Amino acid sequence: MYDFRSDTVTQPTAAMRQAMATAPVGDDVYGDDPTVAALEQQAAQMSGFEAALFTSSGTQANLLALLAHCGRGDEYICGQQAHNYKYEGGGAAVLGSIQPQPLANNDDGTISLADIEAAIKPDDIHFAQTRLISLENTIGGKVLPLEYMAQVQQLAFEKGLKLHLDGARVFNACAELGVPLADIAQHFDSFTICLSKGLAAPVGSLLVGDELLIAKARRWRKMLGGGMRQAGIIAAAGQLALSEQPSRLIEDHHHAQLLAQGLNKLNQVELQYSATNMVFATFNHVDLQALEQHLLNDEIKVSIAKQMRLVLHKDIDKAGVEKLLSSLAAFEGKVN
Ligand SMILES: *Cc1c(COP(=O)(O)O)cnc(C)c1O
Repeated sequence: MYDFRSDTVTQPTAAMRQAMATAPVGDDVYGDDPTVAALEQQAAQMSGFEAALFTSSGTQANLLALLAHCGRGDEYICGQQAHNYKYEGGGAAVLGSIQPQPLANNDDGTISLADIEAAIKPDDIHFAQTRLISLENTIGGKVLPLEYMAQVQQLAFEKGLKLHLDGARVFNACAELGVPLADIAQHFDSFTICLSKGLAAPVGSLLVGDELLIAKARRWRKMLGGGMRQAGIIAAAGQLALSEQPSRLIEDHHHAQLLAQGLNKLNQVELQYSATNMVFATFNHVDLQALEQHLLNDEIKVSIAKQMRLVLHKDIDKAGVEKLLSSLAAFEGKVN
């Protein structure tokens, strides 16, 4: 089965399963798990940061960052399309009494500096207190340029705000830009990494920041029920996710380009764009249910929709891309 729904579907590697079976573990709530500690150190070191925190999910890592940066009645500025605004159940508002100030994302995924500046609230009792700017890279597969991140960092510094990155797929940005993690991380006060997307770990994310921020986040994590015991079992896979997987992500980007080129040749498909490991396409005048069944018969899974997102990852090789393209071509032949 070739599964194009997301890079979250990636299976752990054989090396990960082996490492999980043999990882030394302890009670991480007591700070006793050497594998979790090693993973956190590894992430901090790769980023040029002081500390990191292993979390159960990317949603939890983002929430902990918001709770650690902002207090009750504070506000964070983010994109309308930001995962930590749109897809995290309003957690910052529900659990932290933190107000989001979403702003339009441009077509390239950036938020205009002028828009950010205009949205920063002056010190006035009518307003929530703006504390934080939150960016996302990659966003919808698109890479925010290094110069842009530097400009937002400068603005945040001038305004006395902190800057957070939702870096669920930050290694895809690294691969595309051809830079090490630290080159992106240096622009932020904190950022997240998802180990369980293209990096193929079964579970887990990381929040990276300075000692003080991570200490606050650790407290919140416990309160939210995210304190885990012998978590080294899953952290062991995370170590390999960080050490072995980033270098192969560029392959997924090449496969995405290959898929985009092939989709462009089909009649019923209108290619929207392809960026890093994602391809977005519109299927016009197509019976979507019939298409889904046709693809399933060919052992291909997609998130069926008129506007479809197709995601490349380590469990889809070049043959998988070609199989999807030929299956779509056969479907066109059938209905025409
Ligand atoms: C997947 C994702 C998250 C959240 O990760 P979960 O582990 O699914 O909670 C956060 N931000 C972005 C951009 C994501 O793609």
